Amino acid sequence: MAGITLNNIVKRYGDGFPAVNDVSIDIADGEFMILVGPSGCGKSTLLRMIVGLEDITTGDMLIGDRRVNDLAPRDRNLAMVFQNYALYPHLTVYENIAFPLRLAKMDNAEVDRRVREASSTLELDEHLDRKPGNLSGGQRQRVAMGRAIVREADAFLFDEPLSNLDAKLRGQMRTEIARLQKKLGITTVYVTHDQTEAMTLGDRVAVLKKGILQQLATPRELYENP
Ligand code: ADP
Ligand code: ADP
Repeated sequence: MAGITLNNIVKRYGDGFPAVNDVSIDIADGEFMILVGPSGCGKSTLLRMIVGLEDITTGDMLIGDRRVNDLAPRDRNLAMVFQNYALYPHLTVYENIAFPLRLAKMDNAEVDRRVREASSTLELDEHLDRKPGNLSGGQRQRVAMGRAIVREADAFLFDEPLSNLDAKLRGQMRTEIARLQKKLGITTVYVTHDQTEAMTLGDRVAVLKKGILQQLATPRELYENP
């Protein structure tokens, strides 16, 4: 695990106004950081720069004490949890969680050790032989997180993971994500345009507007001083 440091990050697409304009955020090891703001404020661009899917124009990005500006996504040891969970319907829960380890050609004993440890942490032990189609939304979310944690990633990155869900399920999943994040203690960056998510999920909230970091505070501080 590791914290993530953004130092004076700028992203320009072409010659227009910067999509991300001189943003500095220190995300502590184990912290749950929310990036929130209206459409077009630069939050996805920022997340994509952290993952390494987008080049940084200027500024420095560190994971732990390693400068990662020029590292390929696969060398950053981060785990992105996708909006649709991207589970394979024809594979069991076990094989869905094991998938990144199979890709990495890890030996079976180590795959088994990691999958069992992750599924125990995520309370999925009893569902390992099932297929995603037979799981509840919350269970599917946990499988997606399991796939991320078996890789022993330094941090989780979420890009609006709940935006396709109805209000009731979204509420349940919010609770689930917050609980699991605390249990795992893994550094997490979570992008949303939803104020409720921003105010209920994270340890701190970074509010972006037109690429500029407008506020960086705990939900309580934002509530008392909006
Ligand atoms: P958000 O995730 O907050 O909706 P984005 O990071 O997607 O915001 O976009 C921030 C700004 O950068 C917007 O003005 C958007 O139009 C622009 N932008 C995003 N991606 C690209 C791209 N690939 N090429 C050019 N402009 C882009
Ligand atoms: P492939 O093209 O072999 O399917 P991917 O494009 O899925 O591989 O992944 C390329 C690299 O990105 C992998 O080596 C892995 O370390 C990393 N990676 C895979 N999935 C994720 C993820 N969910 N989040 C972050 N990094 C990932």
